[in-house]
Amino acid sequence: MGHPTRDVDADVVIVGAGVFGAAIATALARQGRSVFLLERSLKEPDRIVGELMQPGGVRALEKLGLRHCLDDIDAIPVHGYHIIFNDRPVTIPYPKDDFQATTKQAQTTTGLSFHHGRFVQKLRAAATKEPNVSVVETEVDGLIKTEGSSQVLGVKGLTAGKRDYFFAPLTIVADGYRSKFRAENSSRKPVAKSKFWALELHDVLLPAPCFGHVLIGPFSPVLLYQIGTHDTRALVNVPDGLEAAQAANEGVLQYMRDHVLPQLPPAVQPAFLESLDKGRLRCMPNSFLPAVPSRVPGLIVAGDALNMRHPLTGGGMTVALNDVVLLTELLSPSKIPDLHDASLVLRQAKAFHWRRKRHSLIINVLAQALYILFAADDFYLEALQQGCFEYFKKGGSCVDTPAGLLGGLIQRPLVLVYHFFAVAWLSVWALLLSQPIWKLLITLVQCGGVLLKACWVLFPYIAAELAR
Ligand SMILES: Cc1cc2nc3c(=O)[nH]c(=O)nc-3n(C[C@H](O)[C@H](O)[C@H](O)COP(=O)(O)OP(=O)(O)OC[C@H]3O[C@@H](n4cnc5c(N)ncnc54)[C@H](O)[C@@H]3O)c2cc1C
Repeated sequence: MGHPTRDVDADVVIVGAGVFGAAIATALARQGRSVFLLERSLKEPDRIVGELMQPGGVRALEKLGLRHCLDDIDAIPVHGYHIIFNDRPVTIPYPKDDFQATTKQAQTTTGLSFHHGRFVQKLRAAATKEPNVSVVETEVDGLIKTEGSSQVLGVKGLTAGKRDYFFAPLTIVADGYRSKFRAENSSRKPVAKSKFWALELHDVLLPAPCFGHVLIGPFSPVLLYQIGTHDTRALVNVPDGLEAAQAANEGVLQYMRDHVLPQLPPAVQPAFLESLDKGRLRCMPNSFLPAVPSRVPGLIVAGDALNMRHPLTGGGMTVALNDVVLLTELLSPSKIPDLHDASLVLRQAKAFHWRRKRHSLIINVLAQALYILFAADDFYLEALQQGCFEYFKKGGSCVDTPAGLLGGLIQRPLVLVYHFFAVAWLSVWALLLSQPIWKLLITLVQCGGVLLKACWVLFPYIAAELAR
C-alpha cells in the first residue's frame, strides 16, 4: 500500500474544473466555504464542445459575478439563429423583450461564441483567485465512503503518480460526459444515436454574421458559427449507422465531400474543403441523459455527469450555469449552516432536482425535439419540419418566443408545449392545403398521423424529464 502524500479536508470537494466545476467553486468560496477543486489537466482544453453560449447562460454568469470570464477571449456576439432550410433562409433573432424581468433593469439578450478552452481557463483563473479555493491537478479515481454505509466522505486521486486523499462533508462530481462517478448515484446511462463531426474553418464570411447557422435539407443537420475573429466551427451531425458515412464508402470524410459540401453556402465551401483536406476531423457523441435526484448522502452529481441533451441548440452550458446559480443558493450557509448535516444537504439536493426543471426542461426537451424534426427521416416528420419552417416565417411571436425558449430567456415549460403544437397544427394545415380535394380522406388520416407524431416527438422527453 502506498503512503498518502496528502490527507486534507475542506467544506466541499469538486471533481472536474470544467464549466460547472470551476464556476461553482468560485460561487461556493464566495459564500465562505473552503473548496478543493480537482482537475485531471489544468492545460487549456482543446475541445469542440461548449462554444456557443445562449443569453440565458450569459445572464447566469452575470448573477454569479463571473461575466468577466467572457472578456478578452475574442468572443463573438450571437444575436440568434439563421436557419437555411433547403436553401431558403429564415432568421430567428433572440427577442429584445425581457420575458423574465422582475425589475426595470435591462438584461442581456445576446449570446456569445468563443473557443471553449479560453473560457474554461478564465473560469479556472477566477476560482484560483479565491483564497478559499485550492485547485489541484489530480486524476480522481475513487470516492471515499463510510464503512457499512453509502455516505461519501471525499475522494482519492493520483497527483503526479502519488496517492492523495481529499475529505469534505460534501463532494460535487462534475466530471463531464464520460463521468466515472455518475453510476454511484444512478444506473441511468447516456444514450447517443448520432455524433457531431467537427471542422475548424478560417476566414469565412457566413451569410448572417453574428448568428448561429443551422443548415437543414436532404442531409443531417449542420451547424456553423464563428468562434473567433478568424475561426468558424462547422459541426456536422452524422447519425449512427448512416449508410453514406460507412467505412465502405470511405466513411465520414467522403460523406462530407459528397453530401455536405455541395449544400453549404458558396462562400463557406472553399474553407470547408481546405479544412477537410487538412484532415483534422474530430467527433463527439450527441448524448441524451435525463437527470435523477441525489440519493447518496454527501454526494451531488452535476453538469454533464447529471444531465445531457443533443447539442444542436447549444444549451448545455446554459443549463450548467443556471444549475450553479440555483445549487449555490440552495447550499448557502443561511440554508445549511453546517454541511456535515447530511440529511439537510440531501433534502436541498432533492429540491435542486425539481427546481432546476424551470430552466433545464425547456432546453433539454427543445434540443431533443428540434433534432428529431431537423433530421426528419419520414413523411410525418418532414411535414412537421416544413410546418416549423413556415411557423418561423410568420415572424412576430412565432419567432420571438421560440428564440426566447432556445436562448434560455423564457423559463415557462407550458409556453414550449403551446408553440410546439402550434407548429403541429400549422403543419397539418399546410398538408391539407397541399393535397387535391379528391385525396381528402387519405389526407385527413395523414393529418392525424402528423399530430400523433408531434405527441411522439414531445411527450416521451417531457416524461423522461419528470421521471424520478
Ligand atoms: C459536440 C458538442 C457540442 C456542444 N456545444 C455546445 C455549445 O455550443 N453550447 C453549449 O452551451 N453547450 C454545448 N455542449 C455541451 C457542453 O459542452 C456541456 O454541457 C458542458 O461542457 C458541461 O460542463 P461540465 O462542467 O459538466 O463538463 P466538462 O466541461 O466536460 O468538464 C468536466 C471536467 O472534469 C474533468 N475530469 C473528468 N474526469 C476527471 C477525473 N477523474 N479527475 C479529475 N478531473 C476530471 C475534465 O478534465 C473536465 O475538465 C456541446 C456538447 C457536445 C457533445
